[in-house]
Amino acid sequence: MAVAAVPEGVVLSQLDHLANWVRANSLWPMPFATACCGIELMAVGASRHDIARFGAEVMRFSPRQCDLMIVAGRVVMKMLPVLQRIWLQMPEPKWCISMGACASSGGVFDTYAVVQGIDRFIPVDVYVPGCPPRPEQLIESILDLQEKIKKTGTLMGKEFAQRTEHEGPMHVQAPQTELTVAPGSYTTATRLQEK
Ligand code: SF4
Repeated sequence: MAVAAVPEGVVLSQLDHLANWVRANSLWPMPFATACCGIELMAVGASRHDIARFGAEVMRFSPRQCDLMIVAGRVVMKMLPVLQRIWLQMPEPKWCISMGACASSGGVFDTYAVVQGIDRFIPVDVYVPGCPPRPEQLIESILDLQEKIKKTGTLMGKEFAQRTEHEGPMHVQAPQTELTVAPGSYTTATRLQEK
């Protein structure tokens, strides 16, 4: 098939491809750093690792200016509503990186007070393993995310669909228990009598 000659200095592309390319290479992160992983997150902004090489150095502390949430550190139950609110305040399209064992699974903090994986409450696109992950790993996750954005973003409006639901494992349902006695009538004395 004959290809029409393109004048010098003119670049042809698909609008879709161009939009994805621009989005992938101009990520504005929202740092949600709550613990030690946050120090590694800070390190990627410094000269040694220099996240600016990948167009993602513009960290913003206003969620309305961000399109990439980076959760670095454990999230306690008390902090969870804040995380969710900030995620909702970020405009679509937006993405999330879960950095470190704590954010991804609760890490060593297997307690009722620590969220056992943020993906139970907000969508996560890329997980970074480690405790703490090296800055290079975070950079690698950003490169992975860029690949994902280039493949999935479209101009058909799909990317603007709100992602408010979690996409991780479902909550474990506690077995249903039936009340066999009226509330308040079952006392320690009752239990001792049963023994
Ligand atoms: S994964 Fe390790 S380094 Fe990161 S917040 Fe948890 S304990 Fe700290």
